[in-house]
Amino acid sequence: MFELLFLLLPVAAVYGYYMGYNSSRQKQQNIKNKQNSNYLKGFDYLLNNKQEKAVDKFIAFLNSKDPSFESSLALGNLFRQRGEVDKAIALHEKMSSDESIDDSEKETALLELSRDFISAGLLDRAEDILVKTVDIPRLQHESAILLLSVYEKEQDYAKAIEVANRYSTSLEGRQSRQVSQYYCELAKQQLLDGNKDTAASTYRKAIECCNKSIRARLELAEILVSQNNFLKASQLIKEVSIIEPNSGVICLDKLKKCFPNSADPNYRFALEDLVHRTNSAEAMVELVKTVEQQSGKEDAEALLLSFIKNKSNLKLFSALLELRSHGTDATSNESIMQIKSILDAQIALSNRYSCPNCGFESKIMFWQCPSCRKWESLKPKIGLDGD
Ligand SMILES: [Zn+2]
Repeated sequence: MFELLFLLLPVAAVYGYYMGYNSSRQKQQNIKNKQNSNYLKGFDYLLNNKQEKAVDKFIAFLNSKDPSFESSLALGNLFRQRGEVDKAIALHEKMSSDESIDDSEKETALLELSRDFISAGLLDRAEDILVKTVDIPRLQHESAILLLSVYEKEQDYAKAIEVANRYSTSLEGRQSRQVSQYYCELAKQQLLDGNKDTAASTYRKAIECCNKSIRARLELAEILVSQNNFLKASQLIKEVSIIEPNSGVICLDKLKKCFPNSADPNYRFALEDLVHRTNSAEAMVELVKTVEQQSGKEDAEALLLSFIKNKSNLKLFSALLELRSHGTDATSNESIMQIKSILDAQIALSNRYSCPNCGFESKIMFWQCPSCRKWESLKPKIGLDGD
């Protein structure tokens, strides 16, 4: 009997091993299931536009995996995206000095580290990395773009232009609009330093860099006006209205400066031209005023009514009330002016410019949207209370 029990010992050992193996496999399976669940939930949140929750799930998924280079990189980027920049910096710093990974992986980690520093506002540290990675052919394009953003944030436009020119092949001209703005910012600084001619030549470079830059033309026109070169200035303004049909308000301000004498017949022609190209209500009102001055109230009113027939706009209605108030008796004049003041109050309340990229609105013009930071994105608002 005892011998029989002895013979059963190997069976017990095999059974024990089997149960232990099964339990460990079960544990591994549970971990895997949890990982998969986090991964799938992450995707579910992404599909339902719940980005923050999706990031949480992906971080949980990556944390529960054996770390590979790719998963660590992804984890660091998710930390940064969620605003935990200190964790992203710590991880990318560790990776960039990890002796167990190859050099190209370390360089990739360094580039990510520069993004972390930019997010944290540590621009000097980002710059230190990027001036090195920009000379690595594989990372040149991304590094040059990041370096431009660093210099833009530091408002060091001369350095930004230098980088854009040095790495123009790698940037493939995709940043030309942005770089043209850097020239304009540089010209603005030169103007403040009293170097008008240098600024004018910098604005010309801005136009060379991006042939469609309306800002460079308008600001160069301003310099030309100050030098009494009205003809060239008005030519530049005309170019702006050709490039951007919704630029009437911006052009009008500059055009007025090109014609110090509003009785000049050429001013009327220039305004007609501007109205024709931009359909701007403010330009129409200015043209009506000029016609009244040069040809009388009847012609002015006929012209204004022809504009109102095709365009519903508060500025046009206000101008009509203004015209109708001329030459009426005191009582009628008072009633007309009361209605006009209500319209004018509404016009004054409305924002003049809006950014189609992010929806930001403003009463004054910004060449870089204060909300989304896109250059030359603000446009005059159109419609009943716009232009
Ligand atoms: Zn914007």
